[in-house]
Amino acid sequence: MQEDPEKLAEKTLEQYRRFMNPGMASLLRFMGLDAVEWEGEGAVVRDAAGNEYLDFLGGYGALNLGHRHPAVVAAVREQLDRLPLSSKILLSKPAADLAQLLCEVGPPGLERVFFCNSGAEAVEGALKLARAATGRKKFIAATGGFHGKTLGALSVCGRDVYRQPFEPLLADVALVPFGDAAALEAATDSETAAVILEPIQGEGGVNIPPDDYLPRAKETCDRAGCILILDEVQTGLGRTGFLFECQRSGVAPDIMALAKSLGGGVMPLGAFMAKARVWRPFEENPLLHSSTFGGNPLACAAGLAAVKTIIEEKLPQQAAEKGSYLMQRLADIKSEYEDIIVDVRGRGLMIGVEFRDSDVAALVIAGLARRQVLAAYTLNNPKVLRLQPPLIVSREQLDSFLATFSESLSQAKSLLAP
Ligand code: PLP
Repeated sequence: MQEDPEKLAEKTLEQYRRFMNPGMASLLRFMGLDAVEWEGEGAVVRDAAGNEYLDFLGGYGALNLGHRHPAVVAAVREQLDRLPLSSKILLSKPAADLAQLLCEVGPPGLERVFFCNSGAEAVEGALKLARAATGRKKFIAATGGFHGKTLGALSVCGRDVYRQPFEPLLADVALVPFGDAAALEAATDSETAAVILEPIQGEGGVNIPPDDYLPRAKETCDRAGCILILDEVQTGLGRTGFLFECQRSGVAPDIMALAKSLGGGVMPLGAFMAKARVWRPFEENPLLHSSTFGGNPLACAAGLAAVKTIIEEKLPQQAAEKGSYLMQRLADIKSEYEDIIVDVRGRGLMIGVEFRDSDVAALVIAGLARRQVLAAYTLNNPKVLRLQPPLIVSREQLDSFLATFSESLSQAKSLLAP
């Protein structure tokens, strides 16, 4: 690092202000997050001045393997030296290998894969396929749900603040309360193309549905002859203690969307998978849906190394064990702070801490940032602090987070005192 780190931070913030988004610049400064990130390793990020941050946000769930996992970096390097992007007209081995692996380890019956670059794109593709496969138009989604911010994906999101400025969105979308199987059943009819749900709502505030919710949703879809799309963009790839969260209840969707950690924390990569009978419109016209960068060799090499490593290193099991430790300790902390913490909930290392209100959550997050722990609230519920560290996080790092969290709570409480 040649440049003076302080000057570099000032200059970068000013560039954000002038050339990117002044609102974001102010927000980052206000939260004490205006350092310049420089390098990362595992669950740690270092800024340009060499300060270390414990990363408990995990790139919004994109870092199940942590920063720069050696297996993913090696695979990407090897591919980079040969063919980073595809000719788009010859066969691509990394894409074919990754598609096969996903079909082998994914929920039963998902036999086809389309690769794209993000979660929103995976959802767009899933919605389009559902319409083409059924010849129907209507979608049913859940309040509080989050599926991305492109127009189609936004149409099935359940928070007004992100929807209203862009209306009219897709017509024929019905929102039903998340976790209420009877409401879902009542809304689903012979016009419905698909029901789209997250197995656990991430951005909605880490909302866990009743155990019978997904099985009942699948029965409802089967009865109505429509498609169940499960969005495992955030829950997938080991985060919740299973390779895919739907495996907990044994429900196999008709279409599944993936992204975030699929790229191994090194490359952007999304995908949607579907049953062969659902895939038929794409089979009849293989160019009906396409993407220039989707399935590029570099991203698929990262994806292949990522999925193999997640399985080899038993990351779902690690998430379950570490998550259960963290949840227990958080429950103890909650009992000391009942006046500001309303709930602690989660599965594996997808954990939400719900505060009395969003101001308390913001104070605690700012306190964590000052103590060099990265965390944030969930996009559709600012009262909830999300904890999504890399699944390779160590016990020492969990303990260090817990100590810092306690300090930040104590400080927030003293600031709130009358
Ligand atoms: N689906 C879910 C469940 C998500 O949590 C997100 C992002 O947070 C998305 C889709 C959108 O993914 P992306 O930001 O890569 O478009």
